[in-house]
Amino acid sequence: MGMEESKIFEDFSREMPKFLEGENFKKCIQCGICGGSCPFGPYTEFTPRRMIAAYRSFLLDDVALNDWPWLCSSCNLCTDRCPSNIPITDALIPVLRSLSLNYGKPPDELAQSLMNISRFGNSFGESEKKRVAWTQEMNFPVKVLRPGDYTDYLFIVDDFGSYDVRGKEITKSFAKIMHFLNTEFGVMGSNESTIGDLVRLSGEFGLFENIALNNIKKINSYKFDAIVTIDPHAFHSLKNVYPSYGFSGPVVHHTQFLESNLEKLKKSFKSLNFKVTFHDPCYLGRKNKIYDAPRKIIDAIPGIKRVEMERSKENSFCCGGGGGMVWMDSISKKYIKVRPAEERVQEAYDSGAEIMVTACPIDAIMFEDAVKILGLEGKLKIMDIAELVLLALEGEKK
Ligand code: SF4
Ligand code: SF4
Repeated sequence: MGMEESKIFEDFSREMPKFLEGENFKKCIQCGICGGSCPFGPYTEFTPRRMIAAYRSFLLDDVALNDWPWLCSSCNLCTDRCPSNIPITDALIPVLRSLSLNYGKPPDELAQSLMNISRFGNSFGESEKKRVAWTQEMNFPVKVLRPGDYTDYLFIVDDFGSYDVRGKEITKSFAKIMHFLNTEFGVMGSNESTIGDLVRLSGEFGLFENIALNNIKKINSYKFDAIVTIDPHAFHSLKNVYPSYGFSGPVVHHTQFLESNLEKLKKSFKSLNFKVTFHDPCYLGRKNKIYDAPRKIIDAIPGIKRVEMERSKENSFCCGGGGGMVWMDSISKKYIKVRPAEERVQEAYDSGAEIMVTACPIDAIMFEDAVKILGLEGKLKIMDIAELVLLALEGEKK
């Protein structure tokens, strides 16, 4: 064993028990359920089962010094199904990724995205000022809050909803719905930085801690009743991870907001004549068990027929973009024959749906790409639930 190899073994043995139930990795029964569940199972040499086997054989360097820790979109399916309750998604993979960052060769785009985040506060490497560029495209003023200001809802947009062309459409649709409902809301503007869930899942624990502590300080400088976000990763981190850094405050995902306003929205819904299917985003569904709210919203729109895909709710199949994979195209190109997003879009199309409804900006980006690759443009449309609700409010343009 070389020096670095033994260091990797040592670091892994020391770091894992620091995570909730992290020690459980020792209880792995090598059942293989994780690899069988994994969207990348057919393409990787090291499924979680084999990663643990490598640890037991003192061969962990074969994992950490290669690309294998990066073939994971943090979808949580393995963790959900693991009979030994091993925190694969929150601990095993991120710890191996931190070892890859320390001793191996992480993918270039990942390193670039992390660098952008530490320099600019967002993975796009854009200026903070541009974070609110979308507000200029609205036909009503969006309140950019100053520290000390009060608002009912603090709208945290996060990176994909602020800077990505597709993501911004979702942000604008949701803002229009809040405006329609006369909901008082405001944004942090250039004071907002990435929430950092993908940084955490990428194993950059030090950077994530800095991000979380800085964000908590900034968020606490505003007064609000609740945080609302369109991003399931931001939702998950704020709700379930930030509290361990001292944050407390109600956080809702926009599906929950829409559900709680459904009676009011329903009165203005116009009939839409579409067959749709709902894709459960991993960090809304599996991670936070929010399955009914989006379905209730869709079912409240007159004229819509909703069908389920073969895999739904806790068995939903990942878009393949979580855990930082949305940044790592080179990894997908190198190892994957059929990307998870393509497999999922095909499944949506096979369900007979004309619209695949999602509730996550990364989903919309990944699936729209897959629609193009599969040549399904004009046959299957990708819409965020906010976009569908807005369409129901405005009515189809004839
Ligand atoms: S599902 Fe859990 S117990 Fe089974 S092989 Fe994977 S990590 Fe081990
Ligand atoms: S979290 Fe998902 S992508 Fe990652 S190893 Fe588990 S099943 Fe595979």
